[in-house]
Amino acid sequence: MEKNGFMKALKCRECGREYPLAATHVCEFDFGPLEVAYDYERIQTALTRETIGTRPQTMWRYRELLPVAGEPTVGRQVGFTPLVKADRLARELGIRELYVKNDAVNYPTLSFKDRVVSVALSRSVEMGFKTVACASTGNLANSVAANAAAAGLDAYVFIPHDLEQGKVVNSLVYGANVVGIKGHYDEVNRLCAEIAGKYGWAFVNVNMRPYYAEGSKSMGFEIQEQLGWHVPEHTVVCMASGSLLTKIHKSYQEFTKLGIVPKTPWKIHGAQATGCSPITTAQKSGLDFFKPVKPNTIAKSLAIGTPADGFYALRVMKETGGSGEDVSDDEIRDGIRLLAETEGIFAETAGGVTVGVAKKLIAQGKIPRDSSAVLCITGNGLKTIEAMSGHVGETREIRPSLREFEVLLSQDKPELVSQQGR
Ligand SMILES: *Cc1c(COP(=O)(O)O)cnc(C)c1O
Ligand SMILES: [Zn+2]
Repeated sequence: MEKNGFMKALKCRECGREYPLAATHVCEFDFGPLEVAYDYERIQTALTRETIGTRPQTMWRYRELLPVAGEPTVGRQVGFTPLVKADRLARELGIRELYVKNDAVNYPTLSFKDRVVSVALSRSVEMGFKTVACASTGNLANSVAANAAAAGLDAYVFIPHDLEQGKVVNSLVYGANVVGIKGHYDEVNRLCAEIAGKYGWAFVNVNMRPYYAEGSKSMGFEIQEQLGWHVPEHTVVCMASGSLLTKIHKSYQEFTKLGIVPKTPWKIHGAQATGCSPITTAQKSGLDFFKPVKPNTIAKSLAIGTPADGFYALRVMKETGGSGEDVSDDEIRDGIRLLAETEGIFAETAGGVTVGVAKKLIAQGKIPRDSSAVLCITGNGLKTIEAMSGHVGETREIRPSLREFEVLLSQDKPELVSQQGR
């Protein structure tokens, strides 16, 4: 293995200037975002379906396409979550074939953020950092806190002060330093940019962002492998910064370019909550640029009003012929319930956004009824209980008596009780 593994440089997405593989994320000339560039010629010989197949079932089976120089050291068990064939949900939504990529059960903190964090922290350790940090809407804080604890790193996580209880406790339990900022995510992010510059910590989604973002590709690599080495016709992805959507697209491009999957067309669709929909609003108006918004939605994990990769997410939707759509808080809850009742999967609010948007796009014909689609479910419902409590029916309480149970049952199924009773 060479000094930098299969990475060549950091490269500006705007002007193409190359930079050393350091903890830096913007181009000095035009402030364009930096992205990891790889040596695809060497990867082509190193990474084949066969080599992938011999490796453990984790996201690291695609390691040549992930930005670490040596062996990963943090989050080595992350990924390879189930791709569930969702026939009952398909029937409800009226589409021929449907799959759910279920990162609600990603290891160890039950969201797709474990993918980006395992890459960012492995790279941080490699570069000699002792303190890691992040600006988060919740799930990222959970994952940085847990993975830093397991790696023996000091962690500072910054979150909006009004997050769901589950997400706050899920960061504190690992002993991380949790800082609640009295403001929304975009203000948290601005503060973190200042702190990163001053203290030189590894901020996974600020100065380490080029490495961090690449971790999202693993969700797309897994989808292709789990479909039998095929790119799905349609993929629906929920968006906060828009990074995950662009990286799923990149994973399809890379496997196609390397000949790991056959060249077939694909469309990538973006999903947001109506209360924070800068990207889908721009997409629906046919604009290349979004207008920043002040978020107001129960989908707090997606509540980024100034999305860092919004521009590139719009471009991916446009280039692939995909669409954008958004859903109200009630539609988010309907989406969560529908996924739970048809497939037995309890997603967080972001998953409700994905399901609700898929339903709309199928009804509008933007995802044709005779096609095949993958829905990316990115987080677990147990972390956003507040969003559903009071909206899921109620427990009926009785004393431990057969008679009381039969009174209850006779309300539901009188024929059952009268057959038995005398
Ligand atoms: C962070 C997050 C996303 C979106 O991430 P981006 O890459 O910033 O668009 C989606 N779902 C959940 C549950 C998240 O926590
Ligand atoms: Zn540049």
